[in-house]
Amino acid sequence: MILPKSHRLTPEQLSEVTGIVTEFGCQIQPIIGAVRTIYAIVGDERDELMINRLEGLGYIERIDRIQSPFKLMDRRSDLATHRIRLGGVTLGEELFVIAGQCTIDPKNPQFFLETAAAVKEAGGHVLRGGVWKPRTNPYAFQGDVKSLDILMEASQRTGLPVDAEVMDESHVELALAAGVHMLQVGARNALNYSLLRAIGRAVAERDTVILLKRSLHMGPISEFISAAEYIASFGNPNVILCPRGTSPALDGYRNHPDESIIPLLKERTWAQVVVDPSHSVGKAVYVPACSLAAVAYGADGLCIETHVSPSQGIGDDPKQAITPKVLAETISQARQIWALRHPAKAG
Ligand code: PEP
Ligand code: MN
Repeated sequence: MILPKSHRLTPEQLSEVTGIVTEFGCQIQPIIGAVRTIYAIVGDERDELMINRLEGLGYIERIDRIQSPFKLMDRRSDLATHRIRLGGVTLGEELFVIAGQCTIDPKNPQFFLETAAAVKEAGGHVLRGGVWKPRTNPYAFQGDVKSLDILMEASQRTGLPVDAEVMDESHVELALAAGVHMLQVGARNALNYSLLRAIGRAVAERDTVILLKRSLHMGPISEFISAAEYIASFGNPNVILCPRGTSPALDGYRNHPDESIIPLLKERTWAQVVVDPSHSVGKAVYVPACSLAAVAYGADGLCIETHVSPSQGIGDDPKQAITPKVLAETISQARQIWALRHPAKAG
């Protein structure tokens, strides 16, 4: 990683640096941080001669040689001061809440529009709404592109930024063209490296935020952080890690709630962590407790399935969406726990 002395390299400096690393079979990837742009060396950056030549350039402050499989997302990275801002919140400065329906029902758009208003009223910062859905049963409702218009209408009416899951490159293109602010990578796709790369490429020059779910089958924590690195390596470091329960399930829950990995993630990465309690426990009645546990473990935010009338919802909503009233209570209690953990920031 190359750290320039100034905020960013001039085109001439960038071309000189690129020339040097190319000689050693590497490439340069600029990463635009809030304060300055840093330059990742993509390839094997261990060649001493290359490093010496780069360090010899007068406009280079230093070369960070973090020996980590995720050098951008690593806690020791220069990006550790990078902050994600969305929905009027700087993550890490106050509890961040994403809420909304699992699935938008294109036949009943009024439910989503009502849910959107209620999420705002309850204190949510980002509105979630499933347009395309990964379903185990191939005959179940797979989502409908028409829901994208409903999602954006709800965003316009409420002023809330929106989050939707994308499962392939065509979804990424459509979602970005429509103005979706946050792209969600679902648990089933968190290990789909070609999708992660496609997303990284598509958002490289945007301020889009990515919510990366932990895969049901992810093993070591480094596997999760490396998946985030795939996206960030294209130039946009706005990647949030989202534990959402793993497999096999804990008897009675939909998955095995995994918010307890937050302290381990925080030890290794600077990434913000937003927990999804809805898919972790899979039943509305357990969602508030899981939300509070997540904040106690150090979550920076929550992503909660919410519906104005869960029994009339589709997808996961009838079983695991909470009502806006329960959402408001959960947010209020979660904020109290967040304040206990961050006494200096709590106002
Ligand atoms: C969802 O958010 O509705 C969803 C399908 O999530 P996951 O990928 O975590 O199962
Ligand atoms: Mn769902």
